[in-house]
Amino acid sequence: MSAHPKFCPRCSIGHIRRKRLPYVMVVEDQLVNIPRFPALVCDVCHAYMFDPVALSRLEASLSARPRPVKTPRARRAAPLAPAATDKPLESF
Ligand SMILES: [Zn+2]
Repeated sequence: MSAHPKFCPRCSIGHIRRKRLPYVMVVEDQLVNIPRFPALVCDVCHAYMFDPVALSRLEASLSARPRPVKTPRARRAAPLAPAATDKPLESF
């Protein structure tokens, strides 16, 4: 199989060009922004897809990464009550 089709599968007249497009995804609740990700773009209808090879490489590197250990959210200590000791005494 060739790396990518020569002509656009959508409009079938445009040529597929390699370009770099911003790619944004969410990984474990974290926004990952890759400003110049390899993509294949039609020069006529501008249909595009991200390079599947680069995508699988990216996924492999993401899954190889040690996952952050999920710790139960630490319980916040109850806020201390405002000190009442600075209240002036009314009388003795
Ligand atoms: Zn096209």
